[in-house]
Amino acid sequence: MASIFTKIINGDIPCYKIAEDDDHFAFLDINPNAKGHTLCVPKKEVDKILDMDEASYMKLMAFSRKVGLALEKAVPCKRVGMTVIGLEVPHVHVHLIPLQSMANATFQHKENLTPEAFEKVAEEIRAALT
Ligand code: 5GP
Repeated sequence: MASIFTKIINGDIPCYKIAEDDDHFAFLDINPNAKGHTLCVPKKEVDKILDMDEASYMKLMAFSRKVGLALEKAVPCKRVGMTVIGLEVPHVHVHLIPLQSMANATFQHKENLTPEAFEKVAEEIRAALT
């Protein structure tokens, strides 16, 4: 069965899209640790990052770097944290999280955003990509 992220990539589930290339897709996390929390995923469904072949892994990191640099420009923060961690969705995803404090990295403190706030920050990150 397709993962929830594959359904997002295919447009079957809505998302706040940030970027896409032939092999990758980036969108806002729906339950963000901080405003701008973004997920970067390979379009090819692979469960665990260490199961990716090296070339695909490197390409995912290069894509995540581009998105992370835009996020850093768009969202005021001390730095953007990158992490691959979690057990919920069996489809590789790189978390990009604007950090003001280490609380933003714990996945214990969540930010409530309105749809308008999600759309606004998505637009700001997209603008910083170009
Ligand atoms: P993990 O596998 O890293 O523990 O959790 C998956 C991450 O994906 C979580 O941060 C969660 O909020 C996010 N997530 C789960 N389902 C959806 C969804 O349907 N849409 C979006 N945008 N994010 C999701």
